[in-house]
Amino acid sequence: MQIRVLGCSGSIAAGSRTTSFLLDGTVLIDAGTGVGDLTLAEMARIDHILVSHSHLDHVLAIGLLADSVTRRRHTERRPPVRVHALAATLAALRTHIFNGVIWPDFTRLPSAAEPVLELVAIEVGQVLETGEHRIEVLPASHTVPAVGYAVLGTAAGGGGSSGAWVYTGDTGPNAALWARLATLQVDALVIETAFRDDEHELAGISKHLCPAMLKSELAQLGRPMDVYITHIKPGEVDAVMAEIGAHDSPHRIQALVSGQLMEFGHSGAAVNGR
Ligand SMILES: [Zn+2]
Ligand SMILES: [Zn+2]
Repeated sequence: MQIRVLGCSGSIAAGSRTTSFLLDGTVLIDAGTGVGDLTLAEMARIDHILVSHSHLDHVLAIGLLADSVTRRRHTERRPPVRVHALAATLAALRTHIFNGVIWPDFTRLPSAAEPVLELVAIEVGQVLETGEHRIEVLPASHTVPAVGYAVLGTAAGGGGSSGAWVYTGDTGPNAALWARLATLQVDALVIETAFRDDEHELAGISKHLCPAMLKSELAQLGRPMDVYITHIKPGEVDAVMAEIGAHDSPHRIQALVSGQLMEFGHSGAAVNGR
């Protein structure tokens, strides 16, 4: 399996795009501004969008993508793009985005009978089947209802299994996540660190992490692993990574980069720049 990192920044600037990951070309995990780097043909291949929560940096491309691919998918008689999220997140999308004021209701366009988007409610602990993928919904702790996702590895021959790719979503301290990951083989962990340590208080209020909080979170992992930091604000990457590097850690920690390709679910994760 392959994850293409389309965007992993906490906000926008030239070269910085907000959260969006593309799994094997067909499953989009969060729909931030990074989606704009896809060609129309690449966008039209996406059959599933998994949303972590309702914040704008993670959802703004859903409606724009729908607008871009409507004609092509309708002509090709393709089914609606399925948007998976917590019921509360879907309600927020309906009320605040697909309301005919901010954006048209693409769950009823181009026609109510054959719309381009279909909203599908999910719950924490559920395992979604999206064609070839099995994706578990993980708990997150944020200022709005939120989840993370684990793309589960494929069953390997010989009775073993390959590991999962885990994305925490936006989250503050999250004991429930570490309890779940204790029983899961993880190849790569993508975790947010949205703030620097001098903004510790703001991180607490907004339910994000800063490097000191990240350290206490990662201490709850049972074994060393590859950890990728996401959701750092533009211009803050070097400072946040320096603060993280100043803490001793058994984990292999690096900043995620837009355009990065992450291969996993084989014998181990491998990462290539683009
Ligand atoms: Zn958020
Ligand atoms: Zn965010």
